[in-house]
Amino acid sequence: MPKSTNLHARAFSSVAACLLACLLVLGGCAGTATDEGEQEAPKAEAPETFEVSDAPIEEPGEMAAEAPAEDPATPDPRDAEFAVDPTRTDWNFEPGEVRTVYLTFDDGPSAHTQEVLDILDRYGIKATFFVTGINPDYLDMIGECYRRGHTIGMHTYSHDYAQVYASIDAYWNDLNAIAGIVREQIGYVPCFIRFPGGSSNTVSANYTPGIMSQLSRDVVAAGYQYYDWDASCGDGAEHTADELVDATMADTSYGYTSIVFLMHDGADKATTVEALPRIIEYFQDEGYAFAPLDRSTPVPHHGIGN
Ligand SMILES: [Zn+2]
Repeated sequence: MPKSTNLHARAFSSVAACLLACLLVLGGCAGTATDEGEQEAPKAEAPETFEVSDAPIEEPGEMAAEAPAEDPATPDPRDAEFAVDPTRTDWNFEPGEVRTVYLTFDDGPSAHTQEVLDILDRYGIKATFFVTGINPDYLDMIGECYRRGHTIGMHTYSHDYAQVYASIDAYWNDLNAIAGIVREQIGYVPCFIRFPGGSSNTVSANYTPGIMSQLSRDVVAAGYQYYDWDASCGDGAEHTADELVDATMADTSYGYTSIVFLMHDGADKATTVEALPRIIEYFQDEGYAFAPLDRSTPVPHHGIGN
């Protein structure tokens, strides 16, 4: 190889090396940033929540052992009072004497749950959340709801009718999956549950005829209580905030003393958040007190439709 070519080649390779080094440095920086971003995402997604069907049917206890006592300070009296307990049958089916509305939010947590919590705080109101595992990024909101004084109930993990009502075992698998998550979040499995679609749903008949008749007995025998609702803002379907407020007034015009009131804080319920302050003010104007569910709440049961 002629000398000049050799020199030229050396110069070239030196420039190339420099470029390569620069690229490595730049690439290294970019790589680090990406890795950090990617590391955080899976953490938030809590991969174990995808193992629904593998969740043990009868031992949500395993997760309890792992659940770190985050604030070991004062025990919350709700922990013992609201934990599922087959030996307790002290449910109340009598209407209350004080006008009370029990706001209940189904299908969360989601991106809207934080807004709902802030509105409730603004009015000094405690409510109840029947939670799912539909939005894995927001599962830590279950703990946040509880810490802010709200009651946690369970609504199944997947909320997928075909999956939940595929069989009696499928229902329990799904309930136990959300039970494990709730236990991680609040330290125990609560006794309050709500069936997807309510106990009167008939869609379950498409999958397992008679399943609601059996489940409604089985869950109570296992120490749970299921809560349907006395009235709703109608947000199961898509409505504007104005329509939700109107529906609230229409559906509560009978003036019952105690109202378990159905709402949703699912991912597509922006208008519910928008309507919530007006719904709260309506109940205030009507003289209702607000309370979260507890074991003394009058239990609403719809008729079983399957
Ligand atoms: Zn639901």
